[in-house]
Amino acid sequence: MIIGITGGSGSGKTTLLNLIREAGGLVLDCDAIYHELLQTDTEMLSAIEKQFPGTVENGVLNRKKLGAIVFADGQALLTLNAITHSAVKKEVLRRLEEKPGLAAIDAIALFEGGLAETCDLTVAVTAPMDQRIARLMARDGITEEYARSRIAAQHDEGWFRERCDHILENHGDLAVYTDNCLAFLREQGIMIPETERS
Ligand code: ATP
Repeated sequence: MIIGITGGSGSGKTTLLNLIREAGGLVLDCDAIYHELLQTDTEMLSAIEKQFPGTVENGVLNRKKLGAIVFADGQALLTLNAITHSAVKKEVLRRLEEKPGLAAIDAIALFEGGLAETCDLTVAVTAPMDQRIARLMARDGITEEYARSRIAAQHDEGWFRERCDHILENHGDLAVYTDNCLAFLREQGIMIPETERS
């Protein structure tokens, strides 16, 4: 079974992903995969260089230079996303094939990146804005302004609610949310060995 997990920053996706890992599932973090591909995927890098000349030097992406281009130009961002999403999707599919069984795909762009269609089930994790901001500030040591700007660049909660098969709300006590995640996983027939939970 492949579960797609999405939702904005600071909502609490990691708790659910960790439980799936405890249940023996493969967890594929698309953001981490993208960063790995920046080191290894020469095909992706040359596609980026072809579209945005001067951004890849000696096989190394100048993220600042590329960031400045796509920040100022929505069309350029779409072009870049088309390249990176397809490279990440290819790698995710390769890893899923390598280890069939229970897996979770963690992707903020689960739908835009074309990975939702690979999933048997999609889940959005949601949380109130003020709690997300406080969590991001504490987790990443960032200012409120920066946390807000990161969230503002993402889809709002309604966007995820409309698209996902299941919603998990994380609006208070972490223990309650964890129990809700466990109940959801049990409903899906996914059990966590007792020893892992004690
Ligand atoms: P991102 O997409 O930015 O990685 P995320 O959805 O994975 O975000 P998490 O890392 O799971 O977010 O949660 C953000 C932080 O908030 C973490 O440090 C986590 O431990 C903490 N956290 C999550 N849920 C709660 C909660 N209910 N109460 C208190 N802290 C929480």
